Amino acid sequence: MILSRIGGPLSLAFLGFCFHANAASDVLRLSNSRLQIGLDRDHGTLVELVNLATRHNLLEAAESQPGLWQIEFEGDAMPLKPGDAQAFQVVRLPGKPAAARLLWTGFTGRATGLQVEAVVRLDEELPVSRWTVRALAPGAHGIRRVHFPRVGNIARQPQERLAVPMWMGQLAADPRALLSGKTGQGARLEWAYPGLLSLQCLAFYAEPGTGLYLAASDTAAFRKTFVMFGDKAGSVGCETVHLPEQRELSALDWQLPYEVVLGSFGGDWVTAAEQYRAWATNQTWATQSRLARGVVPGWITNTALWLWNRGRSDAVLTPAVALQQRLKLPVSVFWHWWHGCSYDAGFPEYLPPREGTEEFKRATAAAHDHDVRALVYMNQRLWGMTTKSWSDEGAERYAVKGLDGKIQPEIYNTFTRQACAAMCMGTEFWRHKYAGLAERAVLDLGVDGIYMDQACTSLACYDPSHGHPRGGGTYWMQGFRTMQEDLRQRCGPTAAGGRQPVALAGEGCGEPWLPYLDLMLSLQVSKERYAALDGWETIPFFHAVYHPYSVTYGNYSSLTMPPYDDLWPAEFAPKEPLRLLDRKFSRQFLMEQARAFVWGQQPTLANFLPAHLEERKEEIEYVLKLAALRARATTYLLRGTYLRPPEFRAPASMLEMSRLSIYAGQQGGLTEFKKEYPLVWAGAWRAPNGNVAVALASIADEPMDLALTVDPKYYGISPRARVVRIDELGSQPMGRLAPKSALKVTLPSRSACLLEFSR
Ligand SMILES: [Zn+2]
Repeated sequence: MILSRIGGPLSLAFLGFCFHANAASDVLRLSNSRLQIGLDRDHGTLVELVNLATRHNLLEAAESQPGLWQIEFEGDAMPLKPGDAQAFQVVRLPGKPAAARLLWTGFTGRATGLQVEAVVRLDEELPVSRWTVRALAPGAHGIRRVHFPRVGNIARQPQERLAVPMWMGQLAADPRALLSGKTGQGARLEWAYPGLLSLQCLAFYAEPGTGLYLAASDTAAFRKTFVMFGDKAGSVGCETVHLPEQRELSALDWQLPYEVVLGSFGGDWVTAAEQYRAWATNQTWATQSRLARGVVPGWITNTALWLWNRGRSDAVLTPAVALQQRLKLPVSVFWHWWHGCSYDAGFPEYLPPREGTEEFKRATAAAHDHDVRALVYMNQRLWGMTTKSWSDEGAERYAVKGLDGKIQPEIYNTFTRQACAAMCMGTEFWRHKYAGLAERAVLDLGVDGIYMDQACTSLACYDPSHGHPRGGGTYWMQGFRTMQEDLRQRCGPTAAGGRQPVALAGEGCGEPWLPYLDLMLSLQVSKERYAALDGWETIPFFHAVYHPYSVTYGNYSSLTMPPYDDLWPAEFAPKEPLRLLDRKFSRQFLMEQARAFVWGQQPTLANFLPAHLEERKEEIEYVLKLAALRARATTYLLRGTYLRPPEFRAPASMLEMSRLSIYAGQQGGLTEFKKEYPLVWAGAWRAPNGNVAVALASIADEPMDLALTVDPKYYGISPRARVVRIDELGSQPMGRLAPKSALKVTLPSRSACLLEFSR
């Protein structure tokens, strides 16, 4: 450490002075035209990360800086750190771009003979550096986890923000408060990839200002976590944690099989998303995504509105037909609780359907006669541990095992507390079982697709009998690919034709699943309805990177109390499931629909009854209006690339919000709160032909007059571009943009439109 040679307790101000005074000799600096990094020559700690455009050093001098790495060994509680090395050298590598090699040697005890080597290279153009690490460990134990690079003491800035692509994406307005923890003792926030982290980057920045950008360029989707950590002194840092494939346990040489990208950007989370997008959309998962290849079934891309109902066909397909007759555009069905087993307990005993095979088949055939198609729910990793099939089929052997070799039971059903086990996608047994069930649902029952719950998640499995590397690796994604290929093969179009290809949907979103899933369920547009306020707001981060490569849909948005699964115990059943919610929550419903619309998702309505067409006319009409408008604008809202929306002032309002679990039961379980939200929501999209459109949705009761500041340069359009207003009824010209003056638009109450700028 830099400070160890200064010695003694010193004031921070004095330390800062010493740091700078010694900096020239103690710090090795590397730079390109946009970024400079500084590594201390004693231990290789990263002490400077300077955005050269703003001259801002993202790191501040501090009494203690975390070392550049930590290595955790199998069966050893104490991690190894750079300070444990008796010798360290850092050398500048010849040539351009600037690069350095760091080598730690002279470890003793358990790590005798170990050498740790890191290489850092500046990018040729971007304000980022690229890092790799390697451990040469003769005779050492197996490596369990490698923390690298570790970055500490991120300099405090005003108005800090942290953007994390947690599935759709989320933004913290006060990340330092979150990282100080509930008790102020510090907190560690971790996001696993592939899974809840839908793409490999984080952005920590000042709004507006300079940001820290942490990413990985791993196209094989190895298991890893991205971490932000804080301490009680208010200092925060970040790291990525890698899980070496344990088949390398006995190997003498482990090398990180991808690069970690660490750097800066100037702007906001959209800028960070654009920086990531420039790399990500050139990778296989984007170019080979099902939407880009044009293999998503036509009925999915043509769906104007999803209906998400639960139960027997008369509660699901019949309302869908009624809704479609009203909308006069394709309505498709997202169908839960069709299966013979109880929800969250009896999986995977889906067959036969609860209303009986023949009745179910008749109902799906009748829906097809009305051109209504359905995805049915099948969880792609849970097996109920109290089911008969669990013991009959010996499923335990193929379940995911933790580090201790045991199953970690998951309990979702709060009424019965019945446990489920996560099945291992790395086992042929589970892949075969799931594909076989899906095949029967598609071929025997006539459903059009499968919603694979929990698909955009993965787990580390440590069962040595499964034949995959223990812990880290790529076996989950490889297993998923193999399983979906098998499933599609089994359900594929017949040689004689006539049958459409099966549609596969997954929960959440995630870049490695883009080539395998036709659509991704993105419920965070309605996050307040199912999650307590936690300091994070939903943002369309995944959509900003991958929108033209995936179909996103889904919304918890509902006008009623939840339904009740009649296979659950009768004693917990509510007196009146699907009772209408108080109208004071209607604005919440409208906002959820507005967000999904401006963020380019297919609209979804949950728990719909045909009676709502009259009983909740205004709310349903809003949904139908957005669906009709979206159907006219799929070049933007399905195929478009996300752009930062123009700035405008719109009033905000205190909204009455409801939170409700599907396990509401007899107690009702409705939580209420009030929170301020804008009354107008906006997104902006570039069509494949280069035209740009701004999508606006108002949830206000009164007309809204807006003045938009449009940046023609950022949008790549003429400062005098022709403007056309598109609404659910048609298009009308609005003249041209006028340089340096705001674009004025009036939105009628509860309405939406697109403002299209032609190139
Ligand atoms: Zn396994």
